[in-house]
Amino acid sequence: MKNKKQGTKAVWGGQKELFYQGATQVPIVNSVTFGYDNVDDWFDVAIGKKEGHIYSRNTNPTVAVFEEKVRVLENAEAATSFSTGMAAISNTLSTFLSQGDRVVSIKDTYGGTSIIFLEFLPKNGIEVSLCETTNHEEIEAEVKKGCKLLYLETPTNPTLKILDLKRLIKSAHESGALVVVDNTFATPINQNPLELGADIVLHSATKYLGGHSDAMGGIVCGNKDLIQQIFHYREINGASLHANTAYMLLRGIQTLELRVLRQNENALKLAEHLERHEKIEQVFYPGLESHPGHKIASEQMTGFGGVFAFSVKGDFDKVKVFLNGLELAHLAASLGSVSTLIGPPKVTSHVEATVEERKQLGIPENLIRCAVGIENLEDIIADFDQALLKV
Ligand code: PLP
Repeated sequence: MKNKKQGTKAVWGGQKELFYQGATQVPIVNSVTFGYDNVDDWFDVAIGKKEGHIYSRNTNPTVAVFEEKVRVLENAEAATSFSTGMAAISNTLSTFLSQGDRVVSIKDTYGGTSIIFLEFLPKNGIEVSLCETTNHEEIEAEVKKGCKLLYLETPTNPTLKILDLKRLIKSAHESGALVVVDNTFATPINQNPLELGADIVLHSATKYLGGHSDAMGGIVCGNKDLIQQIFHYREINGASLHANTAYMLLRGIQTLELRVLRQNENALKLAEHLERHEKIEQVFYPGLESHPGHKIASEQMTGFGGVFAFSVKGDFDKVKVFLNGLELAHLAASLGSVSTLIGPPKVTSHVEATVEERKQLGIPENLIRCAVGIENLEDIIADFDQALLKV
């Protein structure tokens, strides 16, 4: 699979061999435990001498195919999966960080991740330094002071800030830090952090990998040694992916390239359309030349993704009129679905922040985030236009 294109890997990764009784599609193996004909074979699997499964909290044949597919898509040596994206993040951080360690990250990480940094890690005696997201000098200086792990996310939520991954990874490695990148927004179709030097790349598989807003999961990819350590933490911690869910994620991920290419195109054209619209104040999308991260994004991404944000002229009442006037999009949190999901960060990801905190993160009160789906663009534009007429 190594030399194949991403679209081929999404279909064939982990699925080249026929399965049970010649099945071409992955069977859902709902067995908690796996039996052996003799104790010697069982023992060999238990000590890792032979391949096989023993207990589904540790490994499971359906789940293993999902892990293999994402491993191949991220060009990694190994991958291990989780019940949710947050489990992937928290288990990864817990694997590598302990009392007295220092971690550097950015202010704009996903809300759940921010809570780990602001609440949970400090409680366990781990020092956390959160930098202004696009202030590369500040991140480099904080890393230089000494840190065990640099945790990055690009593009960020909700204003799609862009970080120069190569630059930051290089500086972290000079200080001996591990670099973890949340690649959920970009997907392996648009960005491959491991190829840019990152040690670990992780995803909320709930979003683009699954792609249909009907299954939750998480996945972490990296070299064998790092993934073995994370796997060990997860197998004991117990946040394992279930075979039924793995099957749904597998079914969804096969169309990953088709969906993401369409979403890249829909997002870019819709962002360009809104940028020209008289009722719109500002559009945030790394594919637009007006976006401060456009140059770096063009260098490290092959597409700009399906998420963008925009502010309507006027106050939050105008936001409500626009959103309530939409006929096609779901007013809902999350991203990466085949259907367009839209909502104001003030109500979704940043509902707990104060007006001042949102302001500091560069999130205006009249901001709307849109995770565009795969619908026909003409229909989405027509829907946006009719809703904007009411504003
Ligand atoms: N990372 C990012 C960038 C996200 O947007 C999310 C969820 O929105 C997560 C991680 C957490 O994923 P999950 O909801 O699957 O736990």
